[in-house]
Parts: sequence; C-alpha cells; structure tokens
Amino acid sequence: METISIIVPCFNEQETISIFFDEMNKVMNKLQNYQFEIVFIDDGSNDNTLNYMKTFHQKDNRYHYLSFSRNFGKEAAIYAGLQYVKGDYVAIMDVDLQDPPVLLVDMLQILKTENIDNVATKRCTRTGETFIRSFLSRNFYRVINKISSVQIVNGARDFRLMKRAMVDAILMMSERNRFSKGLFEWVGFKTYWIEFENVQRSGGQTKWSLKQLFFYSLEGISSFSVQPLFLSFILCGLLFLVFVVCIFYSFSLSLFFLFNALQLLCIGILGYYLSKMYIEIKHRPIYIVKERSEDHE
Ligand code: UDP
Ligand code: MG
Repeated sequence: METISIIVPCFNEQETISIFFDEMNKVMNKLQNYQFEIVFIDDGSNDNTLNYMKTFHQKDNRYHYLSFSRNFGKEAAIYAGLQYVKGDYVAIMDVDLQDPPVLLVDMLQILKTENIDNVATKRCTRTGETFIRSFLSRNFYRVINKISSVQIVNGARDFRLMKRAMVDAILMMSERNRFSKGLFEWVGFKTYWIEFENVQRSGGQTKWSLKQLFFYSLEGISSFSVQPLFLSFILCGLLFLVFVVCIFYSFSLSLFFLFNALQLLCIGILGYYLSKMYIEIKHRPIYIVKERSEDHE
C-alpha cells in the first residue's frame, strides 16, 4: 500500500486544530486504499495546541507531532516536516482549512493519471483579504518575477502534493533563508496547477502581520535574485557621473542630500545581502525539536 504524508505547521492553533482533525479524518475515509501519516509541527505554540496534538496521537496512531523549542517560523516547520516524513506522496497543508483538505482527493487523482511530479494550488480570488494586503502581494509577485531566476505564480499557496523524488530534491537545499514558493520552482519537475476560491480561516487569527509579510517578501527576493545588488552598482556609477557634472556647474545642496540618500540606500542593499550571508555561514540548525510523538512510544 502506498503512503501519503501530510505536513501541518501549527503556531497557536487551539481554535482550529480539532476542526482540522475532523476534516482530515473524513478525507482519509474517502481514500481507503492509502496509508496515511499526518505530521503536526508545533512551531513553539504557547497555547494548548501541543496538548491537542498529543491527544490526537493517542486516539489515532496515524497522527504524529514534532514540537519545536520555540517559534522558528512556518518555513522551518515545512523543512522539519519534509525531513521527517516517509511517504511516497507528500503534502503540505495549513491547519486552518484555508488549504481545503478535501482537495487532496482530486490532487491525488491528477497526480496518478497525468505524467507530472506534483500538483500545486493557487487562489483565484482574494476575497476576505484586506485591500492593502492584496495590493502588496500582487506587486510583490510582479517585482520578484521581473528580477529573479524563478517564476512564482501569483496567488500560489504552499499547499501541494508531491511525489517522493521532488521532496528529496527540496531536501538537498539546506539553506537557512528559506522561501518555499521559490524552492518548489527552482528544483524544476512538472507541476499541474489547480485553482480554488479563497476560504476564510476556520477560527483564530492569521499569524502574519504586514511587517512580517514585508520581510518575508524581501527574503524571497534576496534568495532568488541578485539584481538589487547590480542596481545599486549602476546607481552608484550614475551618481558619480552626475557628481562630476555638478562640480563644473552649480553645486546645489539639495542634490547633494539626494545623492547621499541614494548612496545610503545602496549600502543598505549591500548590507542586507551581507546579513543573509552571515546567517548562512553560521550554519545554525534551521529548527530545534524539543519533543516528538515517538519519544513516548
Ligand atoms: N504558522 C507556523 N508558524 C508561524 C506562523 C504560521 O507554523 O510562525 C502556520 C499556521 O499555524 C498555519 C499556517 O502556518 O497553519 C499559515 O499561517 P496563517 O494561517 O496565519 O497565514 P495566512 O493563511 O494568513 O497567510
Ligand atoms: Mg491561514
């Protein structure tokens, strides 16, 4: 029998995790010809999330959990899950039902009949999302696709079902600055996209503030593009030329300030990449597991 592994990152999800458990059980009943391995990653929750995970593991040994020593972020949770699971097919899914588990049935069907390596999902609507969030994410995709080596589909979710070979390829990339949407594209393989309408959270609140999303998008750009570095190089060259011309003509104070600001911007871009290198070079672990379901067997 083939095994389907499902990775579910959770951070303070006591309001949603039981709803997920019920929904996932229904989906597993529909796919009786497969074995399942559901792995909850507790990303340093400080509510009752971990206790729920323990209860589900006791009730049903298809449910497992890993609990981090603190909050390492969803990307670290995905990586930990990918390292842990053993399935022939592997899915990543949010716990709040915004990645509807029932779609797995169709995704599996497509994966088995078409000559492809993974089925990915994207939202065709952004209803329920604030205007500023939609505006920023639309423009993020526009920028990253213009300047980076990978093309990221607008509205793409992390929710996808992959064959083992693709999972192994992603695991070969052990970088600290992780941006999964880019990594999925970078490894290649054949992808089939399915679309679905945006779904509201089953409970609780989003864990991403606008500030976090902003830094996450910078992470995406710096992980897959060095064009900002070239841009700063070109800007500095242009500045120098203008400066030389200015010496011969009138020397305006405001222009001087503008140049200074642009120079600082270039140093900032350089510094940002340097800080990313600094993190990589230290080779710290991407996550630390405090306890896991197997510890108690
Ligand atoms: N999540 C996580 N660690 C974090 C933030 C989020 O594991 O630091 C999980 C969260 O529990 C959920 C998924 O990642 O299962 C998506 O988070 P959320 O629903 O808050 O994001 P949104 O859907 O609003 O983009
Ligand atoms: Mg969500």
